[in-house]
Amino acid sequence: MELGVTSEHAGKRPASIRKPARLAHLRVDPRGYPIIATVDQAPGHVDFGSLSEKRKLALATFDLCAVCGLPFAAELRWQVSFEESSAKSKSFISNEAPVHEVCGLYAAQVCPFVSSPYARLGDQIRKGMKRPGVVFLTGFQQTKRVFGGRSGLQNSEFVLHFENSEAERSHRLSSAADAAEAYQQALDNELEIKIDDVEQELTNLLTSLTATEGEDSGSVMAGAAWFIGGAFCPGVGKVQGMERFARDSMYTTIARRVLEPEFAKEFEETNDIYARVAVRWLNSRRHLPKILANWRSVASSRMRHGRPSLKDAREPVAHKKAKRKLQNAARRRNRR
Ligand SMILES: [Zn+2]
Repeated sequence: MELGVTSEHAGKRPASIRKPARLAHLRVDPRGYPIIATVDQAPGHVDFGSLSEKRKLALATFDLCAVCGLPFAAELRWQVSFEESSAKSKSFISNEAPVHEVCGLYAAQVCPFVSSPYARLGDQIRKGMKRPGVVFLTGFQQTKRVFGGRSGLQNSEFVLHFENSEAERSHRLSSAADAAEAYQQALDNELEIKIDDVEQELTNLLTSLTATEGEDSGSVMAGAAWFIGGAFCPGVGKVQGMERFARDSMYTTIARRVLEPEFAKEFEETNDIYARVAVRWLNSRRHLPKILANWRSVASSRMRHGRPSLKDAREPVAHKKAKRKLQNAARRRNRR
């Protein structure tokens, strides 16, 4: 995220700043910086300046904070901006996933953006440009839309955009002292996040390396997110890193089948732990996050009004075989 740290311009040393309790589960890099949920995190190659589109899809689908990877519940969704007008506008579109207030203000503490005006921004195009002296953090009530579209900075690349609306509060940070004061207050008011076991497991998978290969779990988490409805995010197929999910029809075929509650229940038995936890999470929500609910409802309605349902088209015996085939394919391919 733009509040992320870089090796060239370190902010305050992480050891000197008290961490929010909700960041306790995050791994730390050798310098002690917590590895936030939205950045590429291959072992030895954690890049705080590089947002992972795959991770952003998982964050959007499961509606998680881009720093700690935990749900928002009733908390506001905070976004960074450099102009007051965007901070005060009704809705704000960013290519970063939103964060909790305390998480955003923590990132501001350990990152250089207030203390060093020349700190590198996340985007390569803007590398070396001077950061604006004032940064705004705005808390919105809801995430209204998530979609794939061209990055405003790199015309050829598609990235995920988050539109948040109903701004409720904002911080104007023009100095390190402003940022420290706002952070202290957020820290004093930090609420405990209460989550169930499935939510905990989901966050653990997202913020840990893969158990067998020890790789960044961003890719397998994006595959799992795709299965449960990320496939229906508008424009997602063109977003960088999503080609494999868009090209291989198995991913979207499964996503369509998972719209059927019966198949979704059976898919809980899949051998792929990422897909399994994702679908268990899906099946056990009383209410799905708005973004995901909307993607799925549009897709269901298209299926009802468009093509005949896969279920109707299949014979009962073929049905079982096809199901097993899909589940095995999901496991094999999502591990690559
Ligand atoms: Zn957070």
